[in-house]
Amino acid sequence: MIRSLYRKYHKIRPYYFSVNTSLRKFISCCTKNTNKYLKNGTEKMGSQNRQRVDSVFRLRIADIIRKKRDGESLSIEEIEFFVEGVVNRSIQDAQLGAMLMAMYIRSLDSEETTYLTRAMTHSGEVLKWPAEWKGRIVDKHSTGGVGDKVSLILAPALAACGMKVPMVSGRGLSHTGGTLDKLEAIPGFTVSQSHANMIKILENVGCCIVGQTSNLVPADKIMYATRDVTSTTENIGLITSSIISKKVAESLDALVLDVKIGKGAFLKNEKDARELAQRMSLKEDKNRNDTAAATTTTTTTVAAGNGSGVQTVALLTDMNSPIGKKIGNAFEVAESIECLHGNGPNDLTDLVTRLGGQLLYKINAAESMDAAINMIASTLNDGRALAKFRAMIVAQGVQEEIADKLCRKGADVFEVLPKAKYTYEIQCAKSGHIHSIDSMNCAIVTGKLGAGRAKAGEVINFAVGIHLKKHIGDAIEKDEVAMVVHHDEDGIFPEEFAGLLKDAFVIGDRPVTHATRVLDVIT
Ligand code: URA
Repeated sequence: MIRSLYRKYHKIRPYYFSVNTSLRKFISCCTKNTNKYLKNGTEKMGSQNRQRVDSVFRLRIADIIRKKRDGESLSIEEIEFFVEGVVNRSIQDAQLGAMLMAMYIRSLDSEETTYLTRAMTHSGEVLKWPAEWKGRIVDKHSTGGVGDKVSLILAPALAACGMKVPMVSGRGLSHTGGTLDKLEAIPGFTVSQSHANMIKILENVGCCIVGQTSNLVPADKIMYATRDVTSTTENIGLITSSIISKKVAESLDALVLDVKIGKGAFLKNEKDARELAQRMSLKEDKNRNDTAAATTTTTTTVAAGNGSGVQTVALLTDMNSPIGKKIGNAFEVAESIECLHGNGPNDLTDLVTRLGGQLLYKINAAESMDAAINMIASTLNDGRALAKFRAMIVAQGVQEEIADKLCRKGADVFEVLPKAKYTYEIQCAKSGHIHSIDSMNCAIVTGKLGAGRAKAGEVINFAVGIHLKKHIGDAIEKDEVAMVVHHDEDGIFPEEFAGLLKDAFVIGDRPVTHATRVLDVIT
């Protein structure tokens, strides 16, 4: 009841000072509803609710920002008030930026994270699916990396295994690329899809990759874009609420999380990444008074219609070096298609199959982990995942002819994808074996070349990117080309970019092998 009362309040809040009649109507509505509640329910609850309504009346965003700035914990009412203000735009951009910075600096405790996650989830509609899909509605989400194109491959691979994948993704965030931006490098691809369209695509294809809309987790769409340009991304509470709100709104049966650690990740050390994985884990432990438990409650409530909770598994994965050999929006589409043809770089294919394998095993779609991993691998090797990818992009607006040009074996995908005007080669400073490649340096340069945003809503350059000619474990000679940068900088390629990219390579004398990126699995 309280929720519905102050929803009514928020509707009229922008006119609070000027429209007295609205205020009077609202007060009378509150009184009526509270009286009705008192008549129907217990006197005690009614007075508690009155106190909450009173406290809602007094809320001012500037006071809430000050409270968080000064290190105090926010109440559920304050967080819900904030999220509603974000969505109905009564909170100014400056206030949103200030609030996110206060949250970033002071952190969110697990209760605040829970409240924020719930409020964000319910800022839009929570999706419902046909009952016959029950048990097969799955998804994957990453905390963000460099060269991370796994979603473009895994969603169709899972669909080829009979799953339904309603993937709600994000755009580039800070130095990390965004799945939606990558897909928009394909002419005609439309990330904005209605719920009805999503159902149609999932029915016919099995997977779709869409963005938040004004109906689907709108709070995350707005906060995410602001975090991107206010340096407020690397925060456990904000990452948790951003990811989990989207996933809970999808009403999933199972979820695999790729929690990245290292130079190119938001969280650089294992301790923080483990905490993030645990906070995001939707375990069925209803006694815990923290995010996981509370989100489970939300999930269970959401999933009540579907009759199940979200089974979650998190993989901690190494994000020190770039994933695969291509970084940049169009480049990552190109490499995803190579992988869907069964020709992906080993580290990428390994990551895709392990993430997918864990998910399939979790929902008992395979008898063993090896069998689950093989199920995903075989969809990449026999063309079934590629066929799903092709069908998905066509269903999301790409013309058949363009889809053919992208997906045909041996096709030059850059006949269709945007291509940069210039190339610049980075040579290796000494002979030896590549021990590591700093993904952060690569991301900084790609971002500055135009692949990322410096301001919310900025147009990005899909064509620019990096093609690594050598990866970890490869032997390399002095002056051999280690990477080629594709760019649109007229004139001389900036020296500081070249320096950063040269410095990205650590060359050693002894050979090394590039083991799997998966460091641990949290089930
Ligand atoms: N992915 C998201 O969706 N949100 C984050 O905050 C980080 C990665």
